[in-house]
Amino acid sequence: MPELPEVETTVRELRAPLVGQTITGLRNHWLRHIVTPSLSSFQERVSGRAIQSIDRRGKYLLFSLDGGETLIIHLKMTGHLSVVPADLPIEDHVHTVFTLANGHELRFRDTRKFGRVYLVRNQDQVLGNLGPEPLSTEFTAELLHEMLRRRKRVLKPLLLDQTFIAGIGNIYADEALHQAKIHPLRKSNTLNIDESKSLHAAIQEILLLAISRGGATVDDYRRPDGTKGEMQAALSVYGREDEPCLRCGTPIERILLGGRSTHYCPGCQK
Ligand SMILES: [Zn+2]
Repeated sequence: MPELPEVETTVRELRAPLVGQTITGLRNHWLRHIVTPSLSSFQERVSGRAIQSIDRRGKYLLFSLDGGETLIIHLKMTGHLSVVPADLPIEDHVHTVFTLANGHELRFRDTRKFGRVYLVRNQDQVLGNLGPEPLSTEFTAELLHEMLRRRKRVLKPLLLDQTFIAGIGNIYADEALHQAKIHPLRKSNTLNIDESKSLHAAIQEILLLAISRGGATVDDYRRPDGTKGEMQAALSVYGREDEPCLRCGTPIERILLGGRSTHYCPGCQK
């Protein structure tokens, strides 16, 4: 699933072709993509609106439209957005298309069909329960330490909880815990302040490195232009089961935790 760095890469690369462009219509072939409002109301309200800016909150893409409404897209498992000339043959698995006044289209391709699209006046309707943004100035090591102490939960699934921190998924949770040398099964309230500081630094460093590398292509993720990210080559534990830890040489282990793969080094994560 695209996580914060993959969504951030998508946002950055959609700005040039989309900001300032006007949406002329919406075609949809998979109604469950459209969460709110109804398809007919969505088509009416989005048509004629100009895209003023594109931003990100957690794993959501936010398209601010003139008139005050926000188009929100979540890519979920396999979603991919691209901007192409309207006369380019439509690709397989494109279920939602925004047509543009300049003869291009914003196409939402989504093999697994879990993606979601919203048009709202109040963003909190969709984003209201998200935890802090991990690269924001409000997200300090002290805040993380307090948050961890309050929750008393197993670390790995807690890091995946979008109401705890927004944007982290399976890959970057494993990578951050490894970089911070913290075992994924630790209870959150057992971390001392130095461990919380290490985890905070690891989360920010991993996410920034992944953004600088255009995200990680471990399965479906592609940048808007169809090319792969480059972060997969820099992963330390994710997808490296039985390979030696780059820090201590111990074979990386993979366990199932809440139905999700968790990769860690039994040698240096305590
Ligand atoms: Zn190790």
